[in-house]
Amino acid sequence: MSDCLHCDINELVQKHIEGGTDDLVEIASMMAESLADLVLLAPEAERANLLAHAISVVGHMILEKSGAFEGGSRASCLKVESGGVHRKGHW
Ligand SMILES: [Zn+2]
Repeated sequence: MSDCLHCDINELVQKHIEGGTDDLVEIASMMAESLADLVLLAPEAERANLLAHAISVVGHMILEKSGAFEGGSRASCLKVESGGVHRKGHW
């Protein structure tokens, strides 16, 4: 376990894939359910905004990590990246 939740989640997913579960649709469904559970932890009045934020970040990160932004500097886990342990391109 690292000190970055994002990296920890990626590590778990990687182990899942290595364990033979290579159905990315199934994995995405499970992760989406986890996100739904997280949104439901928020007060009801804040859930719509939190979901909108999460969806926005998903889209932004896919664009950023696929190189759509020239010189993009917004990192998902600056703290860990600056420590040099953040791994990019898990898959
Ligand atoms: Zn990370």
